[in-house]
Amino acid sequence: MSQTVLFKNARVIDGLSDQPRAGMSILVTGDRIRQVTQGEIAAPPDAQVIDVGGKTMIPGLIDTHVHSTLMDRESLPLFLAAGVTSARDVGAKLEKVQALKADIASGAQLGPRLFICGPLLDGEESSFPRGPLTEMLQSIPSVDDVPHTIGHLLNAGVDGVKLYFTLPPDTAKAVIRYVDKRVPITGHLGYTHSLEVIQAGIDGLEHVWISPYNEFCALDMQFGPGKKVSSMMNRHFAPLTFKGWEEADLQSQKAKTWFGAMVEKQVNMGTTLDLLWISKCGQDAAMKDPDRRYVPPMALGRQRALAAHIGERPDWDIFPGFDPAIGSKALEKHQEVTRILHESGGLVVGGTDCGGISYPPPGYALWREIELMAEAIGTMAAFKAVTSVAARYLRKQDDIGSIAPGRYADFSIIDGDPLRSVHELRKITTVYRGGVALNPQTLLATVPTQGH
Ligand SMILES: [Zn+2]
Repeated sequence: MSQTVLFKNARVIDGLSDQPRAGMSILVTGDRIRQVTQGEIAAPPDAQVIDVGGKTMIPGLIDTHVHSTLMDRESLPLFLAAGVTSARDVGAKLEKVQALKADIASGAQLGPRLFICGPLLDGEESSFPRGPLTEMLQSIPSVDDVPHTIGHLLNAGVDGVKLYFTLPPDTAKAVIRYVDKRVPITGHLGYTHSLEVIQAGIDGLEHVWISPYNEFCALDMQFGPGKKVSSMMNRHFAPLTFKGWEEADLQSQKAKTWFGAMVEKQVNMGTTLDLLWISKCGQDAAMKDPDRRYVPPMALGRQRALAAHIGERPDWDIFPGFDPAIGSKALEKHQEVTRILHESGGLVVGGTDCGGISYPPPGYALWREIELMAEAIGTMAAFKAVTSVAARYLRKQDDIGSIAPGRYADFSIIDGDPLRSVHELRKITTVYRGGVALNPQTLLATVPTQGH
């Protein structure tokens, strides 16, 4: 039996339009949206009618950068509590993330719709020292190994492929050729310069402050094999990156070349500005942030283990290795990169890295990301970056990312107006995933919390 629900008097941010639409009727049958109409429509017999007058409806949010197997399964409902109904996992042990995806799809595990990439594709060298993160890595030692490795992932049904830090340019380009557009490819680059893979046809880049770094920094500060920073676990990684960006001229010819290529090829730039949020609010405020209570215990424990490599500091569970003395301008600079790219006609999508880095927690991380993106590109553009633009990037725009006929009934009801203040997004009263109503407070009561 499929349930029919009619929402009336809705003020809708549909994910596609530039303006909200008032007085809308939305008809849901089973797990899909059937009809979206301005004004009243007759309720079908046996339909449940919900009057959402005075409230705002927004599509289910999409986090394009999560590590779902690096957090406790009990923490996964946090996504739904925050209205994040879809997430792309961009780095996990393949079998683990396949099992999680299957459990969520079957209803055995509560969580967002999950799209998966499987492992992080490294070159010959390992991006991480031996430790809990290495289970995510897979080495492609040479171009000759590409068909075997990538063929296996495609046969396993991955939704995307993720190139990683130590993968060299020749192998990166061979992967792009071999995949041949069958699934979207993204990269968190280090040894490969982004321009090479942009020209070769990559679909997305992760971390506005990492993947394009080599195109913006001084030559002697670049990442690469045999360079000062050849691994992200190197203690110089964060200070060098922040300094390199601080000195970078965003109006220079090389900057223009990068922005131009991103726009021409319509490559999606995943932001992860949330990781730099501490540079804006300062350590004390970050330590007192109420969202902190929802950091998954597994993520926090792993971060403590990481301290053995990078040094001991009580606040480094927020951003390991971050030093405000060096990085205080980091966020502003990357909001500026995001703004220039967006205003030039480039594609900006929201992603957070929750799970990979412990802070902020699942779901809440995307709220933070939206708030920081809104400062750079405006609130409506920020909402599109986590709904319709993200859906197109994942090639799932017929299923998710907008409130339109035929899409899954994934949306949230907000007791407020998030266009008046983006912070009102936090006033979500009900989240619908596939037409099933979920109460955020009920979900939050089930997740593990840190003593606070
Ligand atoms: Zn990540």
